[in-house]
Amino acid sequence: MILVLKPGASPEQIEQLRLDMERRGITGWDSQGEHTRLMGLVGDTSALDAEALLRNDIIERVLKVSEPYKLAGRRFHPQNTVVQVGNTAVGGSQLTVMAGPCSVESEEQILSIARDIRADGATFLRGGAFKPRSSPFSFQGLGLDGLELMKIAREKTGLPIVTEIMSQDYLSAFEKDVDVIQIGARNMQNFPLLRDVGALGRPVLLKRGAACTIDEMLMAADYVLMGGKSTVILCERGIRTFETATRNTLDISAVPVLKTRSHLPVIVDPSHGTGHWEMVEPMAMAAVAAGADGLMIEVHNQPARALCDGQQSVTPAVFHRLMGKVQKIHALVRGENGDTDAN
Ligand code: PEP
Ligand code: MN
Repeated sequence: MILVLKPGASPEQIEQLRLDMERRGITGWDSQGEHTRLMGLVGDTSALDAEALLRNDIIERVLKVSEPYKLAGRRFHPQNTVVQVGNTAVGGSQLTVMAGPCSVESEEQILSIARDIRADGATFLRGGAFKPRSSPFSFQGLGLDGLELMKIAREKTGLPIVTEIMSQDYLSAFEKDVDVIQIGARNMQNFPLLRDVGALGRPVLLKRGAACTIDEMLMAADYVLMGGKSTVILCERGIRTFETATRNTLDISAVPVLKTRSHLPVIVDPSHGTGHWEMVEPMAMAAVAAGADGLMIEVHNQPARALCDGQQSVTPAVFHRLMGKVQKIHALVRGENGDTDAN
Protein backbone atom coordinates (compact mmCIF):
# COMPACT_ATOMS: atom_id res chain seq x y z
CA MET A 1 0.00 0.00 0.00
CA ILE A 2 1.22 3.53 -0.77
CA LEU A 3 0.07 6.69 0.95
CA VAL A 4 0.28 9.85 -1.13
CA LEU A 5 0.87 12.66 1.34
CA LYS A 6 -0.47 16.19 1.11
CA PRO A 7 2.08 18.83 0.02
CA GLY A 8 1.87 20.64 3.38
CA ALA A 9 2.65 17.58 5.54
CA SER A 10 5.27 18.55 8.13
CA PRO A 11 8.20 16.28 9.08
CA GLU A 12 6.65 15.88 12.57
CA GLN A 13 3.30 14.77 11.10
CA ILE A 14 5.05 12.32 8.77
CA GLU A 15 7.07 10.90 11.65
CA GLN A 16 3.88 10.54 13.72
CA LEU A 17 2.24 8.63 10.88
CA ARG A 18 5.30 6.38 10.60
CA LEU A 19 5.13 5.66 14.36
CA ASP A 20 1.38 4.93 14.13
CA MET A 21 2.13 2.38 11.43
CA GLU A 22 5.03 0.90 13.39
CA ARG A 23 2.65 0.24 16.29
CA ARG A 24 0.58 -1.87 13.91
CA GLY A 25 3.67 -3.82 12.84
CA ILE A 26 3.91 -1.99 9.51
CA THR A 27 7.06 -0.23 8.27
CA GLY A 28 6.56 3.13 6.54
CA TRP A 29 9.16 4.01 3.90
CA ASP A 30 9.33 7.67 3.15
CA SER A 31 10.02 8.59 -0.47
CA GLN A 32 10.09 11.89 -2.32
CA GLY A 33 8.58 11.71 -5.80
CA GLU A 34 9.01 14.42 -8.43
CA HIS A 35 5.90 16.26 -7.28
CA THR A 36 4.60 14.32 -4.33
CA ARG A 37 5.79 12.82 -1.09
CA LEU A 38 4.94 9.16 -0.60
CA MET A 39 4.96 6.69 2.23
CA GLY A 40 5.24 3.07 1.15
CA LEU A 41 3.81 0.61 3.68
CA VAL A 42 5.42 -2.79 4.09
CA GLY A 43 3.88 -5.46 6.28
CA ASP A 44 0.42 -6.86 6.73
CA THR A 45 -1.75 -3.98 5.53
CA SER A 46 -4.90 -6.10 5.18
CA ALA A 47 -6.42 -4.63 8.37
CA LEU A 48 -5.92 -1.02 7.22
CA ASP A 49 -9.09 0.76 6.18
CA ALA A 50 -8.52 3.19 3.30
CA GLU A 51 -11.44 5.43 4.36
CA ALA A 52 -10.13 5.72 7.90
CA LEU A 53 -6.66 6.54 6.57
CA LEU A 54 -8.11 9.32 4.42
CA ARG A 55 -9.42 11.02 7.56
CA ASN A 56 -5.78 11.62 8.56
CA ASP A 57 -4.95 15.30 7.83
CA ILE A 58 -1.82 14.57 5.81
CA ILE A 59 -3.00 11.69 3.62
CA GLU A 60 -4.25 12.68 0.18
CA ARG A 61 -4.66 9.28 -1.49
CA VAL A 62 -4.33 5.60 -0.68
CA LEU A 63 -3.02 3.29 -3.44
CA LYS A 64 -3.06 -0.49 -3.35
CA VAL A 65 0.13 -2.09 -4.71
CA SER A 66 -0.48 -5.28 -6.63
CA GLU A 67 3.19 -6.07 -7.39
CA PRO A 68 4.82 -8.66 -5.13
CA TYR A 69 7.95 -6.49 -4.72
CA LYS A 70 7.86 -3.19 -2.86
CA LEU A 71 11.09 -1.32 -2.10
CA ALA A 72 12.64 -2.10 -5.48
CA GLY A 73 9.47 -0.99 -7.27
CA ARG A 74 9.07 2.29 -9.08
CA ARG A 75 5.69 2.86 -7.46
CA PHE A 76 7.34 3.05 -4.05
CA HIS A 77 10.19 5.18 -5.34
CA PRO A 78 9.31 6.99 -8.57
CA GLN A 79 12.68 8.62 -9.22
CA ASN A 80 15.68 6.71 -10.59
CA THR A 81 18.20 5.67 -7.98
CA VAL A 82 21.74 6.72 -8.76
CA VAL A 83 24.39 4.74 -6.87
CA GLN A 84 27.44 6.83 -6.11
CA VAL A 85 30.69 4.89 -5.68
CA GLY A 86 33.72 7.11 -5.17
CA ASN A 87 34.00 9.33 -8.24
CA THR A 88 31.66 7.31 -10.39
CA ALA A 89 27.87 7.01 -10.38
CA VAL A 90 25.82 4.04 -11.56
CA GLY A 91 22.42 4.83 -13.04
CA GLY A 92 23.14 8.44 -13.95
CA SER A 93 24.23 9.87 -17.27
CA GLN A 94 27.54 8.00 -17.41
CA LEU A 95 27.81 4.50 -18.90
CA THR A 96 29.01 2.10 -16.20
CA VAL A 97 31.46 -0.57 -17.36
CA MET A 98 32.62 -3.23 -14.90
CA ALA A 99 35.39 -5.15 -16.61
CA GLY A 100 38.06 -7.64 -15.67
CA PRO A 101 38.81 -11.33 -15.49
CA CYS A 102 36.40 -13.98 -14.31
CA SER A 103 38.91 -14.88 -11.57
CA VAL A 104 41.85 -13.09 -10.06
CA GLU A 105 44.82 -15.34 -10.82
CA SER A 106 47.99 -13.37 -10.00
CA GLU A 107 49.19 -9.85 -9.33
CA GLU A 108 50.65 -9.47 -12.84
CA GLN A 109 47.42 -10.71 -14.43
CA ILE A 110 45.06 -8.43 -12.51
CA LEU A 111 47.31 -5.37 -12.81
CA SER A 112 47.84 -5.80 -16.51
CA ILE A 113 44.10 -6.18 -17.18
CA ALA A 114 43.15 -3.36 -14.79
CA ARG A 115 45.51 -0.93 -16.55
CA ASP A 116 44.21 -1.91 -19.98
CA ILE A 117 40.53 -1.57 -19.14
CA ARG A 118 41.03 1.70 -17.34
CA ALA A 119 42.75 3.14 -20.41
CA ASP A 120 39.63 2.26 -22.41
CA GLY A 121 37.19 3.93 -20.02
CA ALA A 122 36.03 1.10 -17.72
CA THR A 123 34.60 2.51 -14.48
CA PHE A 124 35.05 -0.58 -12.24
CA LEU A 125 37.45 -3.51 -12.02
CA ARG A 126 35.68 -6.85 -11.63
CA GLY A 127 37.43 -10.04 -10.56
CA GLY A 128 36.32 -13.13 -8.69
CA ALA A 129 38.22 -14.15 -5.57
CA PHE A 130 35.60 -16.64 -4.37
CA LYS A 131 34.32 -18.56 -7.39
CA PRO A 132 31.03 -20.47 -7.58
CA ARG A 133 32.16 -23.36 -9.81
CA SER A 134 29.77 -26.06 -10.99
CA SER A 135 32.40 -28.73 -10.31
CA PRO A 136 34.23 -28.98 -6.98
CA PHE A 137 37.32 -30.04 -8.97
CA SER A 138 37.51 -26.75 -10.91
CA PHE A 139 39.64 -23.79 -9.76
CA GLN A 140 37.79 -22.30 -6.80
CA GLY A 141 39.45 -18.86 -6.73
CA LEU A 142 42.23 -17.44 -4.55
CA GLY A 143 39.87 -16.46 -1.71
CA LEU A 144 41.13 -13.73 0.59
CA ASP A 145 44.48 -13.66 -1.25
CA GLY A 146 42.53 -12.77 -4.38
CA LEU A 147 40.80 -9.96 -2.53
CA GLU A 148 44.22 -8.60 -1.51
CA LEU A 149 45.27 -8.59 -5.19
CA MET A 150 42.07 -6.72 -6.11
CA LYS A 151 42.95 -4.11 -3.48
CA ILE A 152 46.44 -3.71 -4.94
CA ALA A 153 44.92 -3.22 -8.40
CA ARG A 154 42.51 -0.61 -7.00
CA GLU A 155 45.35 1.24 -5.35
CA LYS A 156 47.47 1.24 -8.52
CA THR A 157 44.68 2.21 -10.95
CA GLY A 158 42.12 4.09 -8.85
CA LEU A 159 39.35 1.82 -10.16
CA PRO A 160 36.74 0.78 -7.57
CA ILE A 161 36.40 -3.00 -7.25
CA VAL A 162 33.45 -5.35 -7.57
CA THR A 163 33.75 -8.96 -6.44
CA GLU A 164 31.44 -11.78 -5.42
CA ILE A 165 30.59 -12.87 -1.88
CA MET A 166 29.46 -16.47 -1.43
CA SER A 167 29.29 -16.90 2.29
CA GLN A 168 28.48 -14.98 5.44
CA ASP A 169 31.93 -15.92 6.77
CA TYR A 170 33.45 -13.02 4.84
CA LEU A 171 30.93 -10.26 5.56
CA SER A 172 33.34 -8.12 7.55
CA ALA A 173 36.18 -8.50 5.02
CA PHE A 174 33.84 -7.42 2.20
CA GLU A 175 32.39 -4.57 4.24
CA LYS A 176 35.88 -3.24 4.86
CA ASP A 177 37.46 -3.72 1.46
CA VAL A 178 34.96 -4.08 -1.39
CA ASP A 179 33.37 -1.11 -3.19
CA VAL A 180 30.46 -3.04 -4.73
CA ILE A 181 29.55 -6.47 -3.38
CA GLN A 182 28.39 -8.92 -6.02
CA ILE A 183 25.71 -11.52 -5.33
CA GLY A 184 26.02 -14.11 -8.07
CA ALA A 185 23.25 -15.82 -10.00
CA ARG A 186 23.52 -18.94 -7.85
CA ASN A 187 22.93 -16.98 -4.66
CA MET A 188 20.23 -14.62 -5.91
CA GLN A 189 17.73 -16.40 -3.71
CA ASN A 190 20.03 -17.10 -0.75
CA PHE A 191 17.79 -15.00 1.48
CA PRO A 192 19.90 -15.01 4.68
CA LEU A 193 22.92 -13.87 2.64
CA LEU A 194 20.86 -11.13 0.96
CA ARG A 195 19.66 -9.82 4.33
CA ASP A 196 23.14 -9.86 5.85
CA VAL A 197 24.78 -8.16 2.87
CA GLY A 198 21.98 -5.57 2.88
CA ALA A 199 22.89 -4.65 6.44
CA LEU A 200 26.46 -3.71 5.48
CA GLY A 201 25.57 -0.46 3.75
CA ARG A 202 27.74 -1.19 0.69
CA PRO A 203 26.18 -1.09 -2.80
CA VAL A 204 25.17 -4.55 -3.97
CA LEU A 205 25.33 -5.87 -7.52
CA LEU A 206 22.53 -8.42 -7.72
CA LYS A 207 22.78 -10.85 -10.64
CA ARG A 208 19.68 -12.54 -11.95
CA GLY A 209 19.32 -16.22 -11.06
CA ALA A 210 19.53 -18.45 -14.13
CA ALA A 211 16.01 -19.75 -13.49
CA CYS A 212 14.47 -16.68 -11.92
CA THR A 213 11.74 -14.39 -13.17
CA ILE A 214 12.01 -10.63 -13.13
CA ASP A 215 9.53 -10.44 -10.25
CA GLU A 216 11.67 -12.88 -8.26
CA MET A 217 14.73 -10.75 -8.94
CA LEU A 218 12.97 -7.64 -7.67
CA MET A 219 11.79 -9.48 -4.54
CA ALA A 220 15.42 -10.56 -3.98
CA ALA A 221 16.39 -6.88 -4.26
CA ASP A 222 13.75 -6.15 -1.58
CA TYR A 223 15.59 -8.50 0.80
CA VAL A 224 18.76 -6.39 0.38
CA LEU A 225 16.92 -3.08 0.56
CA MET A 226 14.85 -3.87 3.63
CA GLY A 227 17.92 -3.43 5.82
CA GLY A 228 17.53 0.24 4.92
CA LYS A 229 21.28 0.73 4.39
CA SER A 230 22.37 -0.72 1.05
CA THR A 231 21.48 0.22 -2.50
CA VAL A 232 21.18 -2.30 -5.33
CA ILE A 233 22.34 -2.46 -8.95
CA LEU A 234 20.46 -5.10 -10.96
CA CYS A 235 22.30 -7.28 -13.48
CA GLU A 236 20.75 -9.31 -16.28
CA ARG A 237 23.16 -12.18 -17.09
CA GLY A 238 21.10 -14.62 -19.10
CA ILE A 239 18.62 -17.29 -18.13
CA ARG A 240 18.44 -20.98 -18.82
CA THR A 241 16.23 -21.95 -21.72
CA PHE A 242 16.03 -24.90 -24.16
CA GLU A 243 18.59 -23.16 -26.42
CA THR A 244 22.08 -24.68 -26.39
CA ALA A 245 23.89 -22.48 -28.93
CA THR A 246 24.65 -20.04 -26.14
CA ARG A 247 25.59 -20.72 -22.50
CA ASN A 248 22.48 -18.84 -21.35
CA THR A 249 19.80 -16.89 -23.18
CA LEU A 250 20.52 -13.21 -22.61
CA ASP A 251 17.17 -11.58 -21.88
CA ILE A 252 17.66 -8.12 -23.37
CA SER A 253 13.96 -7.42 -22.91
CA ALA A 254 14.59 -7.57 -19.16
CA VAL A 255 16.24 -4.14 -19.51
CA PRO A 256 13.12 -2.15 -20.47
CA VAL A 257 10.98 -4.30 -18.14
CA LEU A 258 13.27 -3.60 -15.18
CA LYS A 259 13.66 0.08 -16.05
CA THR A 260 9.87 0.41 -16.07
CA ARG A 261 9.14 -1.60 -12.95
CA SER A 262 12.07 -0.52 -10.82
CA HIS A 263 13.97 2.64 -9.94
CA LEU A 264 17.25 0.72 -9.57
CA PRO A 265 20.12 0.90 -12.11
CA VAL A 266 20.28 -2.00 -14.58
CA ILE A 267 23.42 -3.42 -16.11
CA VAL A 268 23.90 -6.36 -18.49
CA ASP A 269 26.54 -9.11 -18.53
CA PRO A 270 26.87 -10.42 -22.09
CA SER A 271 29.86 -12.61 -21.12
CA HIS A 272 27.90 -15.04 -18.95
CA GLY A 273 24.83 -14.24 -21.04
CA THR A 274 26.33 -15.82 -24.17
CA GLY A 275 29.35 -17.88 -23.08
CA HIS A 276 31.26 -17.02 -26.30
CA TRP A 277 33.67 -14.09 -26.60
CA GLU A 278 32.66 -13.40 -30.22
CA MET A 279 29.09 -12.71 -29.10
CA VAL A 280 30.02 -10.34 -26.29
CA GLU A 281 30.48 -7.25 -28.45
CA PRO A 282 27.17 -7.46 -30.38
CA MET A 283 25.19 -8.22 -27.23
CA ALA A 284 26.91 -5.41 -25.33
CA MET A 285 25.83 -3.07 -28.11
CA ALA A 286 22.27 -4.42 -27.94
CA ALA A 287 22.15 -3.97 -24.16
CA VAL A 288 23.22 -0.33 -24.31
CA ALA A 289 20.81 0.31 -27.20
CA ALA A 290 18.02 -1.18 -25.06
CA GLY A 291 18.71 1.38 -22.33
CA ALA A 292 21.02 -0.44 -19.91
CA ASP A 293 22.91 1.78 -17.48
CA GLY A 294 26.01 -0.29 -17.92
CA LEU A 295 27.79 -3.54 -18.71
CA MET A 296 29.80 -6.23 -17.00
CA ILE A 297 32.42 -7.66 -19.36
CA GLU A 298 34.94 -10.43 -18.73
CA VAL A 299 38.37 -9.42 -20.08
CA HIS A 300 41.52 -11.57 -19.95
CA ASN A 301 45.02 -10.81 -21.22
CA GLN A 302 45.50 -14.49 -22.18
CA PRO A 303 42.01 -15.99 -22.56
CA ALA A 304 43.35 -19.35 -23.73
CA ARG A 305 45.17 -19.76 -20.41
CA ALA A 306 42.42 -18.37 -18.14
CA LEU A 307 41.62 -20.52 -15.10
CA CYS A 308 37.91 -19.77 -15.50
CA ASP A 309 35.62 -18.69 -18.36
CA GLY A 310 38.38 -18.08 -20.92
CA GLN A 311 36.06 -18.96 -23.81
CA GLN A 312 33.79 -16.01 -23.02
CA SER A 313 36.56 -13.54 -22.13
CA VAL A 314 37.54 -10.88 -24.63
CA THR A 315 41.12 -9.71 -25.05
CA PRO A 316 42.04 -6.11 -24.19
CA ALA A 317 42.17 -5.39 -27.95
CA VAL A 318 38.58 -6.57 -28.47
CA PHE A 319 37.53 -4.70 -25.32
CA HIS A 320 39.07 -1.54 -26.79
CA ARG A 321 36.99 -1.90 -29.96
CA LEU A 322 33.85 -2.79 -27.99
CA MET A 323 34.20 0.31 -25.81
CA GLY A 324 34.43 2.56 -28.86
CA LYS A 325 31.17 1.11 -30.19
CA VAL A 326 29.15 1.06 -26.97
CA GLN A 327 30.17 4.59 -26.11
CA LYS A 328 28.84 5.78 -29.46
CA ILE A 329 25.57 3.92 -28.93
CA HIS A 330 25.26 5.29 -25.42
CA ALA A 331 25.70 8.84 -26.69
CA LEU A 332 23.02 8.18 -29.31
CA VAL A 333 20.56 6.76 -26.79
CA ARG A 334 21.12 9.70 -24.46
CA GLY A 335 20.83 12.18 -27.29
CA GLU A 336 17.49 10.75 -28.38
CA ASN A 337 16.00 11.02 -24.92
CA GLY A 338 17.70 14.32 -24.25
CA ASP A 339 18.41 12.86 -20.82
CA THR A 340 18.67 9.21 -19.79
CA ASP A 341 17.56 10.14 -16.27
CA ALA A 342 14.10 11.12 -17.46
CA ASN A 343 12.80 7.56 -17.39
C1 PEP B 1 30.73 -14.01 -12.40
O1 PEP B 1 30.36 -12.83 -12.57
O2 PEP B 1 31.91 -14.35 -12.45
C2 PEP B 1 29.71 -15.05 -12.21
C3 PEP B 1 30.02 -16.22 -11.64
O3 PEP B 1 28.52 -14.70 -12.69
P1 PEP B 1 27.07 -15.40 -12.52
O4 PEP B 1 26.80 -15.40 -11.05
O5 PEP B 1 26.18 -14.47 -13.30
O6 PEP B 1 27.16 -16.77 -13.11
MN1 MN C 1 32.85 -15.88 -15.08
